[in-house]
Amino acid sequence: MAKRLIGHATCPDCGHPDAEVALDKSGNPYRVCILGECDGSQHFTHGKPARVKNLLAKTRPVEGVDLAAIAKKFNVTLPGSSSPDPARPPAAPSSPKPAAPAPKRSGLLIG
Ligand SMILES: [Zn+2]
Repeated sequence: MAKRLIGHATCPDCGHPDAEVALDKSGNPYRVCILGECDGSQHFTHGKPARVKNLLAKTRPVEGVDLAAIAKKFNVTLPGSSSPDPARPPAAPSSPKPAAPAPKRSGLLIG
């Protein structure tokens, strides 16, 4: 199955500026250096927030990809994204809300 390319990042191993950042089959971002001297070197985040944040912070998104939205899935906020206040005040204690059901895409009209 085709990987989902979300952007490019500089490879820390060989310094290639266009190592690919993609989503693995679990939707976790990872970097793969297929163009540089590493020739296949991969770095997986395994969905760990600190690693996701670190990787996405260095990723230059391809057109149409919203890295902040991807980061949000892992409960991380990217530097320089929406929040104007870097020192976030502690969030209010989470209220025991029932989890919202995932939005269904049933908007297609047939006929
Ligand atoms: Zn490399």
